[in-house]
Amino acid sequence: MFTTMLVGDPKQRPPTPKEGDLFKIIELCGKTFEIRYGFYEERDRYTRYAEPIAIYPDFTAQPAYTDDGIPFITAIQSPCKNFDGKQDENSCCEDCGYYLHGEELLGTCTCPKNKKIGE
Ligand code: SF4
Repeated sequence: MFTTMLVGDPKQRPPTPKEGDLFKIIELCGKTFEIRYGFYEERDRYTRYAEPIAIYPDFTAQPAYTDDGIPFITAIQSPCKNFDGKQDENSCCEDCGYYLHGEELLGTCTCPKNKKIGE
């Protein structure tokens, strides 16, 4: 009984998501992002207790912008050279003064230097 109190009733827990399952559809600044469960790294599959997690777009590899040229970013993204604030080795975009939270881990970067000027 004590163990059940600590870990909860397994019948009450939501089922473990499978790779490819939909986590959430997020609409932000006129764009739609379909976030699915998966693994960021192949080796993550083989770690102990590995479970698929919500995979967010890699905006460093494939930038995406609002119609106004504002970059989409994730809270967990590595900071760029325009980081605003006190930065250390664990800092990410979420810690930057230019980070504007959207929904879940999706947001936008309000740094004027990162804004895409019309093509
Ligand atoms: S300026 Fe934008 S992209 Fe750069 S660290 Fe700050 S929030 Fe991230």
